[in-house]
Parts: sequence; C-alpha cells; structure tokens
Amino acid sequence: MKYKNITILTGAGISAESGIPTYRTGEDKLWGTDFKEFSTIQSLRTNRIKSIEAFNERKRRYIENDYKPNAGHFSLAKLENYWRDNKIGCFNVITQNIDSLHELAGSNHVVHMHGSLAKKRRIDTNNVVDWGNEPLNPDLERPEVVLFGEEIMHGRTIESILNFTDLYIAVGTSMTVFPASDFVLQVKQLGGYTIFVNEEKCFLDGRFHKTIYGKSSEILPKLVDDIINELL
Ligand code: NAD
Repeated sequence: MKYKNITILTGAGISAESGIPTYRTGEDKLWGTDFKEFSTIQSLRTNRIKSIEAFNERKRRYIENDYKPNAGHFSLAKLENYWRDNKIGCFNVITQNIDSLHELAGSNHVVHMHGSLAKKRRIDTNNVVDWGNEPLNPDLERPEVVLFGEEIMHGRTIESILNFTDLYIAVGTSMTVFPASDFVLQVKQLGGYTIFVNEEKCFLDGRFHKTIYGKSSEILPKLVDDIINELL
C-alpha cells in the first residue's frame, strides 16, 4: 500500500445527507444557524437554563428523528475494516460532529474532538456517563460537548495521530472552526498527502494537495475503492 496511516477529519457536511442540518448552511435553529448562540461557554454560565434546555431539545429531536448513517459514513467504516483485516497500519476518524453516525455505520476508531450528544457530565464530580434519553438536569449536569470558548477534547491523542498520518482526508467541513482547520498544515509539514472533499469551495481549501467537490455520499465510496485498489 502506498499509504499506511490514514486519518479522516469529518464535519457537519458528512451528516447533512442523513438529515442533520450543517452549522453554516442549515436553516434549522438548533442544529443550524443559531447553533452558536446556544453553544457558548458564556451562555452556559450566564443563561444556564436556556442553554441546557437548548441541548435537551437538540437531544430530544436527535432521538425523535432517529438519524441514520449514509453512504459516506459507511464507506469510511469499510475502509477502517479493510485496514484492520489486512493489518496495513492505523486508521482514525477525527470528527467535529456530536452525532454518533460514524459509530452507527460501524467505525470503531472515532475521536470526538467536540464531544458527543451520547454523553453527559455531572458538574459536581466531573464524571462522564452515557446520556440516555432523559433530559439533563440543569443544576447537576451538562452535555459532554465542547462549547464555543472551550478547548477541544482529546487534543494529545489528535496531535499524535496527526504526527504519523501519511494520508489525510477532510470531509464536509467549512474549515472555519479552529484548530481543525489547521490539522492539514501539521500533516503536510510532516510529509503527508492531503485531500479535501466538500460540496462547495472554501477559503482554505488551497491548503490541500487535492480537492474534490461534491456530495460526500457520492465521492467517498469511490475514493475508498481507489485507496483499496491502490489507484490513489
Ligand atoms: P459547517 O456547517 O461549517 O460546514 C459544513 C460544510 O459541509 C460546508 O462547507 C458545506 O458545503 C459542506 N457540505 C454540506 N453538505 C455536504 C455534503 N453532502 N457532502 C459534502 N460536503 C457537504 O460544519 P463544520 O466545519 O463541521 O463546523 C461546524 C461546527 O458545528 C462543528 O463544530 C460541528 O461539530 C458542529 N455541528 C455538528 C453537527 C453534527 O454533529 N452533525 C451539525 C451541525 C453543526
């Protein structure tokens, strides 16, 4: 294999075709345009009830809508399985998404750098547990999700994953949220090859060696086959 260690960065765009609106382009209040308003550390401090209620509502709709992975998520799980079965090297997905669609598609190595709606934290003990289906208690709990103004999760793990990545593919992200937008620079600096897959042009896509524009559900299955067949 030409490449040994693959890292995929995913953003809201990969889940768009599963029905979850993206942050920038979505018209939906909770998942889309007003996402930021409810998701800052300031809003949690100064308007705790409203902030927690917004996450409870997002969680409720997440359960209600029963979002399913699409062909983009499934193709990444296929590539991970191929990598593992053939003992080629490391395969990791770093996701900015707080949904669980990679896991539902069968991916095992998923780093949730912005946390997950599947987990919640006790504010007195800092214990992180599964967030079942019940709403959060605003006095005791918060979502295990990175709010704007907070540091990303698993920073050290991500750092070391990027350091040995020789093929890096960013999918469905507008590259506007730091530090994810800079991962490509780190991989390139260490000699890795980088690809950007997105529906539309973004102002930082010139950072990548190669860009492919279109829907991730259509592009990723072909890209994955090309990698497996060593056509890339
Ligand atoms: P973003 O909304 O800023 O950008 C999404 C990008 O995906 C856009 O550039 C858009 O052109 C592209 N896109 C849309 N549909 C696509 C498709 N079918 N195929 C390929 N590309 C497509 O998202 P971001 O860069 O991930 O940053 C937004 C922040 O909001 C992140 O922190 C993210 O975690 C969060 N967020 C998460 C979810 C989720 O968990 N599913 C949803 C909304 C927002």
